[in-house]
Amino acid sequence: MLGLMQDWSLLIHRIIDHAAIQHGSREIVSRGTEGMIRRSDYARTRRRALGIAQQLARDGIRLGDRVGTLAWNTDRHLELWYGITGIGAIYHTLNPRLFEDQIAWIVNHAGDRLIFLDLTFVGLVERLQERLPAVERFIIMTDPAHMPETSLRGAIDMESWLAMADGDMAWVDLPEQTAAGLCYTSGTTGNPKGVLYSHRSNVLHAMAVCTPDFLGLSSRDAVMPVVPLFHANGWSLAFSAPMTGAKLVLPGPKLDGPSLHGLLESEQVSLTAAVPTVWLGLLQHLDATGGGLSSLKRVVIGGSACPRAMTEAFETRYGVTVAHAWGMTEMSPLGSFCSLKPATDGLAGEALLDLKMKQGHPPFTVEMKITDDEGRRLPWDGRTFGRLKVRGPAVAGHYMNDDGGDILDGEGFFDTGDVATIDANGYMAITDRAKDVIKSGGEWISSIELENLAMGHPDVAEAAVIGIAHPKWDERPLLVIVPKPGRAPDHDDLMAFMTGRIAKWWLPDAVELVDAIPHTATGTIKKTALREMFRDYRFRV
Ligand code: ADP
Repeated sequence: MLGLMQDWSLLIHRIIDHAAIQHGSREIVSRGTEGMIRRSDYARTRRRALGIAQQLARDGIRLGDRVGTLAWNTDRHLELWYGITGIGAIYHTLNPRLFEDQIAWIVNHAGDRLIFLDLTFVGLVERLQERLPAVERFIIMTDPAHMPETSLRGAIDMESWLAMADGDMAWVDLPEQTAAGLCYTSGTTGNPKGVLYSHRSNVLHAMAVCTPDFLGLSSRDAVMPVVPLFHANGWSLAFSAPMTGAKLVLPGPKLDGPSLHGLLESEQVSLTAAVPTVWLGLLQHLDATGGGLSSLKRVVIGGSACPRAMTEAFETRYGVTVAHAWGMTEMSPLGSFCSLKPATDGLAGEALLDLKMKQGHPPFTVEMKITDDEGRRLPWDGRTFGRLKVRGPAVAGHYMNDDGGDILDGEGFFDTGDVATIDANGYMAITDRAKDVIKSGGEWISSIELENLAMGHPDVAEAAVIGIAHPKWDERPLLVIVPKPGRAPDHDDLMAFMTGRIAKWWLPDAVELVDAIPHTATGTIKKTALREMFRDYRFRV
């Protein structure tokens, strides 16, 4: 027997409808690429999104077509997401920080028909346009007064384009499984792969993110997403904030400490979210100027592990609660959040900080397990680590064009590529990336844990650990060090420092000093390049 409730499909435009009706005058403040601060609200955003939908339809954009955006977090970018999905087309966020070849490859692979771009990226796209034959037109996200001279095909400024819409438009009714958004993984192995979100996955994910043990957003919040919309579906904030009626503060292209601090204070932001590197810039600025954070209550930190010193600085010096989050593009992207369950009451001081270093527990809609290489489940004891696998309605089931083939195990779980422990209270802690973990005698050694430990040595500026082939143990750890200027820590000194803080068999077999360690575009250690550097390395036995 079927239930007799209404069939109210989970469509993205219902979010902006709700925001416009219930929180219509709630502000959306945005720093434009032209330099000025613009003020909008949810009612206006909905109106303009409908105009965008109408103009897209007039330009021939149809159900399932991909529309690229190469843009910072601004009001216009937000309007585009709703306008594009409102006719059943797909927003495709392009990451301007990728290499030009990669951007061209991704646009062509996705088959983008239009690209909306910020003023900042006109030069970049002019260089690329000959290699993007399928893109019919480029729309520049500015007004006539700021429109530059450009050779871009069919170029028009977005305001002139939108002014042609008369607003006589309704959202297109769609099945909730209809594709809505496309975001490519960074492709650290092989070509980038497209993750294709649906209306339903985005709505369910945003609802999960809004729950109190997760972001716990409300209409009283002022939310500043510093994490770009082009990074991993913008951590869902373009959906979760409007869903609750929270004020939105969009920082545009300026992500440096002073600019972010200015907006946090002038707009009285209560919650903000970004990767650790961004917060390093803010904390350095506050240290240098003696500034404070008068309204900020919570800062969400994820994308890579949140350093302990950062959590301490925010919480003890500035009275801001740090919420450590973990996720990935394939998970829409948020998978876990480190909020305090009742079972953790009583933890204080260092023990509480230890807990806050964990990546946290998943919301309803995300199931987790850890397994060994054969897929056997491992215990949740907070010590045993294995491959972290996830299942849920907002987790990828396939990549675009079925690249990579079947990506789920027999139980329908997706392998995150991360290695983690889970403790008895359900808190997950990432210990490594699966491809970086060192496999020694059938056991695993966490490269990240060794790196963090070595970084604590007073002579070490940077440390990286990779596995080197070993005749007996399969692999053994090599510690690569960039010493601080004028220092030269030796093997015995480093081993003495590390001994007693890790299992004896985890101690690196050798230490090599180098001038520099290769980094990726986002500042993390480029293990592939490092492995290449040490390709012919052999331990002296
Ligand atoms: P990519 O395209 O490189 O996969 P993602 O943004 O999807 O880019 O990156 C997801 C990965 O980032 C995760 O699998 C994990 O390894 C890492 N990550 C994300 N958040 C955290 C965190 N809080 N702590 C440690 N690692 C994290």
